[in-house]
This record gives sequence, structure tokens and C-alpha cells, in this order.
Amino acid sequence: MVRVPGGRPLVGTVSVPGDKSISHRALLVGALAPGTSTVTGLSNGDDVARTRAAVEALGARIEEVDGSLRVTGGTLHVPPGPLDLGNSGTGLRLLMGVVAGLSGSTTLTGDASLRSRPMDRVARPLALMGATASGTGERCLPPVTVTGGRLVGIDYTPPVASAQVKSAILLAGLAAAGPTVVREPVATRSHTEELLAVAGADVSVERSGGGVVVTLRPGPLRPFATVVPGDPSQAAFWVVAATLVPGSDVAVRGVHVSPERTGFLDVLDRMGARVAVERRGPGVADLRVLPARLSGTEVLAAEIPSLDEVPILAVAAAAAAGRSRFRDVGELRVKESDRLTATAALVRAIGAQASVEGDDLVVDGVDLGAGGSFCSASVDAELDHRMAMAAAVAGMATTGASGAPGGVAITGWDAVATSYPAFLADLDRLTGTTTGGAAVTGAGRDGRRGPLVAIDGPAGSGKTTVSRALAARLSVDRLDTGAMYRAVTWLALAHKVDLADGAALGRLARDGHFEIGERVVADGSDITAAIRSPDVSAGVSVVAAHPEVRSALVERQRRWVEDRGGAVVEGRDIGSVVLPDADVKVYLDATPEERARRRSDEQADGLARRDALDRSRAASPLTVAEGARVVDTTGRTVDDIVEEIVGWLTTSA
Ligand code: C5P
Repeated sequence: MVRVPGGRPLVGTVSVPGDKSISHRALLVGALAPGTSTVTGLSNGDDVARTRAAVEALGARIEEVDGSLRVTGGTLHVPPGPLDLGNSGTGLRLLMGVVAGLSGSTTLTGDASLRSRPMDRVARPLALMGATASGTGERCLPPVTVTGGRLVGIDYTPPVASAQVKSAILLAGLAAAGPTVVREPVATRSHTEELLAVAGADVSVERSGGGVVVTLRPGPLRPFATVVPGDPSQAAFWVVAATLVPGSDVAVRGVHVSPERTGFLDVLDRMGARVAVERRGPGVADLRVLPARLSGTEVLAAEIPSLDEVPILAVAAAAAAGRSRFRDVGELRVKESDRLTATAALVRAIGAQASVEGDDLVVDGVDLGAGGSFCSASVDAELDHRMAMAAAVAGMATTGASGAPGGVAITGWDAVATSYPAFLADLDRLTGTTTGGAAVTGAGRDGRRGPLVAIDGPAGSGKTTVSRALAARLSVDRLDTGAMYRAVTWLALAHKVDLADGAALGRLARDGHFEIGERVVADGSDITAAIRSPDVSAGVSVVAAHPEVRSALVERQRRWVEDRGGAVVEGRDIGSVVLPDADVKVYLDATPEERARRRSDEQADGLARRDALDRSRAASPLTVAEGARVVDTTGRTVDDIVEEIVGWLTTSA
């Protein structure tokens, strides 16, 4: 049993194990290709170790040289005894295809969980090709005995989208007479055909609508070298963890990215997550994740063809505001465990609501980002690695009563060894980094990563428009500090505080309940529009001149920035006082006519008075900060200005 406590931000970089799907296939194709292939970065989990042992039993030779595997293949034969694939459904199904091409009988089996998983979807097409595969019962449960021999190519459309079925057919097709065609209405992961192509097979892929048609013509393979990138389905755990735990900042390095594998990132993006995908090479990227408030969404099974990320996305949905629906995910019932029931149970255990409606999973979240919380829980992962890690992430996001760390206790944790043996070590490292106060690997100054841009200028100079577009361009948050001064002014007017009383206004600025985001909320009401009213505009520069107000708000602004990686912050004193060491400081200006035109909602004389007050006050007046670049926005497009600032960021890095 393992207990994962909450309340510890995750900070730093992490590399997840080599992609399991690619690892299995690299071993199998390496075993089939005559000569010696090299595979680097293989998954170190138990599942892939089983496939390795199986191909060795089939006659491939494997040696480890300098951390890479050398796989010598091409002369496979039926093994002396049964192949035990442990917990690995992928290994067993793909090997059914491989051994169908050998003359003789091979028995494949696994642990209790694998022996309850159906293999009929592979057995049926193999039978059409001329092999027989028999297991227990109608659904062909393992142990499965495959008798291979002379195979013929088939033209097959699997009834359910499955990369494993497609792969088993293609691997058998290598030994068949004539071409083998697999038609997928929904494209599943393409690693098998990609690796076969790398190994010199005559394989072609045609896209048709959302699906693909893969055609393989028999022919010799040749040895190859491949590097296995990080497993996106493992990266998903850290992506969700860093999204849910406040103060986190995680970069997951070297992750395999392809449309069939990274649907979960699209889902999280819709929910409001902040994940920057930085490409490192073909099919490989770093994922940089910062915390975010999530909202519910609808997920279609086709977005996540393997459904591997549904349990962890359900944890994200449990944290989100509102309802999420995972459509047509009934297949989860026949994974390593009944993941549909188990996922619903996990969501309920941590205090959110979940129900199964037909083949849909419906989750109503607690809205962690707005004061909701996960409760402490005990969960039985039922020997399912993904359920165990999803429960661990839920534990990271718990907060106990009155700020105690809470946590989730997980039985059945051992299963994690099948795919991610170093998960807890990586968790300790990511959470330990912050408690030790050490700088983040690859971080800039102060452990901060991501660009920090200060934008100052008078009213109507274009600060808001430019900083919005720039923040979107850089995938960072934006803070409108003017809105903070306006919120304090609104509160002062609402509470009838004298605008000359600096001490009272300072207390309001320090302790007042207001939040600045795309919406501005104070005392529980949405005041986004109210802070732009003539009353507030007329009073704000008076309020902003009090040193007590300024020091309180500057502190709140710096804290806001510290909680994030990079940011775009706009105001009057950002480059000079709030963030003097921002990566780039910009002072925007425009002609008085242009500024008055942009602020047509405010009387020109009111605007001029505000500018004069802002420039002449004693406490941090509006000036061009030291080192700031002055930009006249008159007559220029937003894109043009944004690209100019991005250019300065690149040269300052
Ligand atoms: O940006 P906006 O025009 O909404 O700002 C309103 C007022 O808030 C400014 O006129 C100024 O008096 C004050 N302010 C400030 N320092 C900042 C941002 C705004 O004094 N950093």
C-alpha cells in the first residue's frame, strides 16, 4: 500500500519511461528482421520485459550495449513452452500475430487479469488468414494456443478500432502470401506500420476521412536503429498533477506526440489547462505545464482511441467546474480491470460525482480552482497500474480539513511496476525540489521559467490589447494591474471609504476580497463592467497615488507572478517597481488623439487628468523604466507589435 499526500507543488523536469507501445513493437519487429537492430530508450516496465523474454524464447538474441538493446532476429521458431506475458495485453495480442506466421503451435498466457481479457478480436482475422487460435470460451480467453502455417493476406475491417488488432494482422501479414489490407474507420496508433517501414517493409498508409487504410506486401525486412520516445499516456499523469496542484511548474521531456496519442492534450486544452508543447524533433516534444482552473467538457472515445488516459482525465474532470461526459467508453470494462467502474468509484471516493450511463461516464467536478476540494480517500487499484497512478494524482490534489495535506491511500500499487517503476521516485523528486528550494533544471533566474514581460504606458496606449495578444502568443497568463487599482476604488466607493484616507485604502488593498482574471470578482460579485464606470475612472488615479495602496498591491502582484512561470503584466510601474528584472520591459505610447479615440468611453479631459496625476504623483509615477523599449503604437497592427516584442525576448534569452 502507498499513501500519496496532497499540498505539495510539483516543480522541475521529469522524463517518463519509453513509450510502451513503441517498445513492444520495436522488440517484435527487431526479432522478425534478419540481422542486428538497435533499440534505445526501451520502456523499463514489466510489460515490455515480458515481451523481451517472449521474443528471446522465440529465438531472437538480445544484448545490452551502452544502455541500448541489440536485437538479432530473423530466425524465429515455436518456443519450447508457453509464453507468459504477465499483465500485458499488447504483448499477447501482438505476439499472436507473430507466432501465426511460424509453423507449429504456440501457447500464450498471462496473469489472472490477462487471462480474463478477450482475444477473439485477434483470433478471428488470424483464422481468416489460415491460422487457428483457440482459447477459453466464446471470447477466446488466454491461455490461447495459436497454430500457424501457410497464411494468406486478407482485406479486413476490424469491427472495433484497435491498434493491437491491426498490428497483429500486419505482423502475421509479413509471413502471408499476397498483400494484407487493414481498413480502420477511426485511425489508431500507427507505430507498427511506422516501425515496419523503418525496417524496410513494403507498407503504405492511405488516409480516408478520419480513418486509414494500411496495405502491407510481403517482403524481406532489414535491421534498423530506433530511439523510443517517452510514453504520452504516462506523461498524462504529470500533466494533470501539475494542472491541479497549485504552485506547480513541470516540464515533461522528450514525450512521443502524434495525433493518435495526444488526444488527451486536446481534451485538457478545452478544459482550460495550460500546457505548452515544445517540439524537439519529429514526433517528440517537451510538455510544460502550469496550474489552471478547469471546466468540464465532452470527450468522444475517438479522441482517445486506446482510452488509456480516461482514468486520469476523469480525475481532471473531478477537479473541474461543471459536468464532463466521456462518450462511448464501454471498452474500459475489459482493460486490466473494469476501468469504467473503477474510475467512477475513484471519482466518488475523492468527493466528486460520477455515474455510468450506458457506455458513457459522467463526472460532475468539485471546481478545485474556485475553492472546491478533493477529500482524503482509500482506493483499491485492483492491480491496475493506470488506476493506481490516477489515484496517486488525485491524492496530490487533495487538501485535508483546515489546510492539512489530506491524501489518498492506494492498495494494489505493485501494479505500477508493469509500466512506470520509478513513478514514486519521480514524484519525490518533483515535490522535493520545491521544499529544498533548489533551482529548477533548465530554469531561468530564480527558478522561474517562461518569459516575463512588463508593459507600461499611459491610458489608451494599447497595453491591454497588446498584452492580451502577447500572452496568448507566449502561452502565459496576463495580469492587468490597472484592474486591481480599479477594484480597490470600486470597493472604496461601495464601502464608502474616503478616497483621501490612505491608511484605510491601504487596508482595503491588502485584505480586500477581489480577484483579477478575465473576469474581475470582488466581495463575491462580478465587477468586470463596474470597474470601468465613470465613477471608478474618476477616482482611480487618486486612490492609486496613496503609497499604502501601492505597496499592498505591488506585493499582491509579485505573489501572483511567483505563482506562475512566465507572465505578461501591464500597468504603470511594472518595469520600474513591480518587476524591474523582467526579461523584456516595454513602454507603449501613442499620440494623444489616438489614445483619446481608443478610450472613447472616457471623457478626453478625464483621461488627460488621470494621465497627469499618474505622471506627477510622488509614489512610483508613470515613467519609462530603465532599460525599457519605447513603442509608439499609433497606426501599427497588434501582430506587428507582438512579433517585435517576441523578437526582443529571443535576443534577451
Ligand atoms: O490600466 P488602467 O487605465 O485601467 O489603470 C487605471 C489606473 O490605475 C491608472 O490611471 C493609474 O492611476 C492606476 N495604475 C497604477 N499603477 C499600475 C496600474 C494602474 O497606478 N501599475
